[in-house]
Amino acid sequence: MSNRIISILKKKLARKTWDNWFTTFQVKKVTDDKVIFSVGNLFIKDWLQSKYGNVISKAIKEAYGKNLEYEIVYETTDPGAFNKSDESYKGPLVKKKPLLISNLNANYTFENFVVGPENRVLYAVSMEISRSPGRYNPFFVYGMVGLGKTHLLQAIAHKIMELHPEMRVLYITSEQFMNDMIDSIKSGSVRDFREHYRKKADVLLIDDIQFLIGKNGVQKELFHTFNELYDAGKQIVICSDRNPEELNGFHDRLVSRFQMGMVMEICPPEKDTRFKIAKKFAERESVSLPDDVAQLLADSVDGNLRILRGVIIKLIVQSSINKEKIGAALTNQILAAFNKTTVSIKRMKEEDLLLSAIEAVMGVSPREIKGTSRKQNIVLSRQLLMYILKRHHGKSIKEISQITGKRHSTVIHSIKKIEMSVIKGNIVIKEKLAKILNMMATSSAAG
Ligand code: ADP
Ligand code: MG
Repeated sequence: MSNRIISILKKKLARKTWDNWFTTFQVKKVTDDKVIFSVGNLFIKDWLQSKYGNVISKAIKEAYGKNLEYEIVYETTDPGAFNKSDESYKGPLVKKKPLLISNLNANYTFENFVVGPENRVLYAVSMEISRSPGRYNPFFVYGMVGLGKTHLLQAIAHKIMELHPEMRVLYITSEQFMNDMIDSIKSGSVRDFREHYRKKADVLLIDDIQFLIGKNGVQKELFHTFNELYDAGKQIVICSDRNPEELNGFHDRLVSRFQMGMVMEICPPEKDTRFKIAKKFAERESVSLPDDVAQLLADSVDGNLRILRGVIIKLIVQSSINKEKIGAALTNQILAAFNKTTVSIKRMKEEDLLLSAIEAVMGVSPREIKGTSRKQNIVLSRQLLMYILKRHHGKSIKEISQITGKRHSTVIHSIKKIEMSVIKGNIVIKEKLAKILNMMATSSAAG
């Protein structure tokens, strides 16, 4: 009988829908008045309930000849495989898209945020907000690229989820907000979109708001979202590469909303702080960085922590490839290579770091990834790259297609492939993914 519901459901749904959402869907138990289904992913559970509730009810009726209540429960197949570093919370993560394990980087926590004198107050306010969301509202953080804005926002998100597990915390980049809005217009589900952002979030964190400069339609939408959340006393946290007044082309009323609360700058780390961050970046990769090397790095690389991280990852990869000790010699060599291309350092892309991490974990070079080989390991590396770009860096399909030189359809297929492997609990893929992400992610002083 239970197989019958499944096959009825399968018939009622498009093949694609089935493949996307129902592969882990099973009948767990049937009682006199209730059917209990299980799924292997927390986000899918909510998604199925809201999107396919009616179809499920109909299928039950067809299978049993009467209306029965149903419940969907979440059953892990492989608990904790993803958040090894953060066993403490198992509750719902950020509910952005049902397929996401979480769009938060597990390493972007307060524990991993080194606090120097330059950002002590900022840190204290962020902690206070995590303890009492709604207290400083909105909280607007601005500063140059690579100073830790995203890290800080996500640290707040993590902390709120830990201290207030009942709160629904939504972290999103402005680009994702815009894309979601456009998608909802295309698919005629603007109401769902609004409900999602305005009603379902207790805390909304929006990254890189400057992305919306000149995008009037989205700003208008954001304005209403902002007001509704604000009026309901929900915490809003925003970050940007410039202060509110400098958001040229932003509607005045939105700018003045941003100024209503607490506006703080995130400052470049001083040398001592950089020293500590360098140490911890390495520690995160289970490598111990000698003091003289950390000092050399702190002296040579200024505020942009992405570059500091890039140099350290290169250092680690290089030393393991060459079987060479991490010392001043190798460090100078890598620094020189970086300095030769100062211009490109400034614009060093996340993608380059990601490619190095993939090379280190998978043994596949950037050239091979961007090439056309169909060798299994290379194909898998390519798929992982696309998946991470999409899910962890918020890149669009179009951007990923440009970065990798692959067609849209290939990109979409590849991302889905990894996504399904993750959902199905494919250990090998999850491990590779975790290793790459771990390598990418930085960390620093505990406490
Ligand atoms: P932004 O969003 O401002 O461009 P990110 O949050 O991406 O910067 O930070 C760049 C990198 O530096 C990240 O890997 C982040 O974990 C790390 N980082 C930033 N600030 C700190 C800090 N205070 N302590 C430790 N790591 C930091
Ligand atoms: Mg950022």
